[in-house]
Amino acid sequence: MKYTEIMVRYGELSTKGKNRRVFINQLVANVRSALHQYPSVKIYGDHDRMHLVLNGADSAHVMSLLRPIFGIQSFSPVLKIDKDLSVIYQSAVEMVASVYQSGMSFKVIGKRSDKSFALDSNELNREVGAAVIAAFPDITVQMVKPDIPLQVEIRNEAAYLSCETILGAGGLPVGSSGKGMLMLSGGIDSPVAGYLAMKRGVTIEAVHFHSPPYTSENALNKAKELAVKLTAYGGSIQFIEVPFTEIQEQIKKHVPSGYLMTVTRRFMLRLTDRIRQKRNGLAIITGESLGQVASQTMHSMLAINSVTATPVIRPVITMDKNEIIEIAEAIDTFDLAVQPFEDCCTIFAPPQPKTKPKLERVEHYEQSLDVEGLIDRCLAGIRVEAIKNSDQFLYKSDTQMDELF
Ligand code: ATP
Ligand code: MG
Repeated sequence: MKYTEIMVRYGELSTKGKNRRVFINQLVANVRSALHQYPSVKIYGDHDRMHLVLNGADSAHVMSLLRPIFGIQSFSPVLKIDKDLSVIYQSAVEMVASVYQSGMSFKVIGKRSDKSFALDSNELNREVGAAVIAAFPDITVQMVKPDIPLQVEIRNEAAYLSCETILGAGGLPVGSSGKGMLMLSGGIDSPVAGYLAMKRGVTIEAVHFHSPPYTSENALNKAKELAVKLTAYGGSIQFIEVPFTEIQEQIKKHVPSGYLMTVTRRFMLRLTDRIRQKRNGLAIITGESLGQVASQTMHSMLAINSVTATPVIRPVITMDKNEIIEIAEAIDTFDLAVQPFEDCCTIFAPPQPKTKPKLERVEHYEQSLDVEGLIDRCLAGIRVEAIKNSDQFLYKSDTQMDELF
């Protein structure tokens, strides 16, 4: 079927009152950027619907690009035709033919906003229905939940036909909630956390800690590759690479092994918060899940979180690992995340981290470290890179992490 337009429904945007225009404009911008390879597609963000006029673009491919965009409740491919009855009947039959399978039911939903048109909506239902039945003698008519709800709308400028509604990604347009710093490791959980934050409209910047030569170039590339996967949902992502070697070495040297992990996490959070401040972020996002590991007990989180008053959003905090994995598979980050490249935490992980660290102890141990100096030196070495959808970082060479040790 050679569709001419796509009609997009906004969903949750409708509850946004005065901010509605801002949300719609953001969604239009996001759709435009997702469809950048189709400059001829015209996008109209009306108050209650968005209309994409295809101007010859492939509707199936355009729809596949709309699917991951947050802020879209559903969309329908539409055919715009002349308000000529024989054209309407013929197009209705062709449209049903493009989706019909033996045993299916249908219903015509006629609407006439052009009151000068020859048929009113009841007559439209009857006449278009008769044309369809004549072409498909086996088709049944069903008023409630028909397989094919064939919409026929007569407006002033033209007639519009459609019969499919495809579910969109839901959520809010990325960018409409402000910016957050995603602490992105190479694991399963943090990419899922980033995806879920984006779903609620957050623009994310990825902050990744690495400790060369203890961590390999490939561990870093894996994190970048995970960021590439996330670009599908909100366009390019700023990837902030934080050199963490000196801090990890100093912690290892001066802090007793049971508290190593807690102190390390506090540094990570402090650093992410400084980066957030510089880059005008409003929150920090992590992939922590309650009780999953020693650093994610309530006691640990209290001791770690006390370095900042910035909101820390933990989208997967109450999820079981299986639930997180299910999302990771759906967003295609799972296979990458389970590739065995060690990240900095795994390598410096003490054998028995405290699951109930005491804040006074943590603060006491930190006194033997030059906290501010370490942070300043670390921040001086960060690298920022814009990661795009088409980027590739892993498997460009055969360098194995083993060779680096
Ligand atoms: P993930 O699967 O996201 O790595 P995890 O279950 O392995 O999570 P941890 O390694 O304890 O848990 O990390 C908890 C959170 O801390 C991660 O979800 C991530 O947000 C952050 N984090 C851990 N390591 C790094 C890193 N190297 N760079 C940036 N953030 C990190
Ligand atoms: Mg991890």
